[in-house]
Amino acid sequence: PTMAQSQALLVLENFIGGKFVPCSSYIDSYNPSTGDVYCRVPDSGKEEVEAAVKAAKDAFPIWSSKSPLERSQILNKLADLIEHDLEAFAQAESKDQGKTITFARTVDIPRAVHNFRFFASSILHHVTECTEMPAMGCVHYTSRAPVGVAGLISPWNLPLYLLTWKIAPAIACGNTVVAKPSEMTSVTAWMMCKLLEKAGVPAGVVNVVFGTGGKAGEALVCHPDVPLISFTGSTLTAQRITERSAPHCKRLSLELGGKNPAIIFDDADLSQCIPTTVRSSFANQGEICLCTSRIFVQRGIYSEFLKRFVAEAKKWKTGNPSDPTVNVGALISKEHLEKVRNYVKKAQAEGARVLCGEGVDPLALPPGNQKGYFMLPTVIAEVKDESCCMQEEIFGPVTCVVAFDTEEEVIQRANGVKYGLAATVWSGNVGRVHRVAHRLQSGLVWTNCWLVRDLNLPFGGMKASGIGREGAKDSYEFFTEVKTITIKH
Ligand code: NAD
Repeated sequence: PTMAQSQALLVLENFIGGKFVPCSSYIDSYNPSTGDVYCRVPDSGKEEVEAAVKAAKDAFPIWSSKSPLERSQILNKLADLIEHDLEAFAQAESKDQGKTITFARTVDIPRAVHNFRFFASSILHHVTECTEMPAMGCVHYTSRAPVGVAGLISPWNLPLYLLTWKIAPAIACGNTVVAKPSEMTSVTAWMMCKLLEKAGVPAGVVNVVFGTGGKAGEALVCHPDVPLISFTGSTLTAQRITERSAPHCKRLSLELGGKNPAIIFDDADLSQCIPTTVRSSFANQGEICLCTSRIFVQRGIYSEFLKRFVAEAKKWKTGNPSDPTVNVGALISKEHLEKVRNYVKKAQAEGARVLCGEGVDPLALPPGNQKGYFMLPTVIAEVKDESCCMQEEIFGPVTCVVAFDTEEEVIQRANGVKYGLAATVWSGNVGRVHRVAHRLQSGLVWTNCWLVRDLNLPFGGMKASGIGREGAKDSYEFFTEVKTITIKH
């Protein structure tokens, strides 16, 4: 950046022990909708992680001895403060990530607020177990205690939403944390740090260290005083984290990628199914782990579905994320855009048909966004199940549509990938939706809807989509250590 630019740049600092601390080196962060560098993010390493872990360790005795009610009140206060600044947070998330302002305003930030409120409430309602052995004169019960310093590592697609989904349960349970957001989307985490003191979060309870995965992330994963790591990101990174943490036998929660099928039977209500499946394919530029990317349509309705689906996808407007009429914003980075485009090229080379979007329709962008990382919602048909577009996570606005004949066949094909995160099933036949839902290898199955979540219930993936679950009870169990105590009377 030039002198004039660097003066205007937003410069983030690490948040350690309740104080903002500058770092000795920085990484550039881009505004995906313009391609300009607009922010500098600390390039933290071992030293910064060491300081943050120490602060978290020092804060643990006091924080863990507070009652759940005291912690609950602080979490609620933090939720109120974020909500009070909702618009500023939404603007920042949109600028930093490329997502539309509408999505940030209605999904990302409200959910971040809700994450704190939800765990502020749920922490008050857990009960532990108790059994009796009268013949032995014994009573057994379990007690749960916070584990210690939790390492939290989150991705760039839903920055504050996913980070708070970890911070909230971790601190509600009495742990202290060192969080490392994605180096590409660090701004809203930094903004949140400014509110912690006012909310009453004691210094050292929440520490945020910014930087890359290879440097800051690994230092956290390898730190001997961090007994648990909660990670959301790609399967490849999860493998690395598993290896690096193995010598310390750390407790891991891994929320990873997906290759999520939508199965559409010929008795589906297409007036509901089509707009929802367009949304499940392209919401947040297709950059949600739960997005649909393989659509199986029963042969009798295949051509009608395709026609209506493409028409609906074409209604989605791509452009400046701050325009409230825009549905598709910018992808996270130039490299990621290139990767997503390459999948479309590979599909074409294999003989698939691109029905709309990339390479088929013109992309008209406002003058200020010409250098942004934009791509139209793209629908591909006649793709083989073995194709990389049907097997690998693309994580962009690309979805494949294929035909199937029978229930048995579609279950096999839907399960024929390494992932198992989320699936949707569309049918008016109650028996069938239950049968299919039971047989799908998927941590979540939505029937006749998408992305309807009750945070009480387990969230997470099977196979290469992850290990462990998050939710009211699951996060409580992950972030606490259980002990069985026996008393003879
Ligand atoms: P990523 O794995 O590249 O990075 C995720 C985080 O891990 C970042 O903070 C990164 O800096 C850090 N990291 C990278 N290498 C590391 C290392 N060696 N040690 C420690 N930390 C390291 O993922 P991404 O590209 O940021 O996010 C996209 C991926 O996340 C997709 O695969 C998507 O499906 C997945 N995701 C999953 C869920 C879910 O809940 N299952 C939710 C959102 C995103």
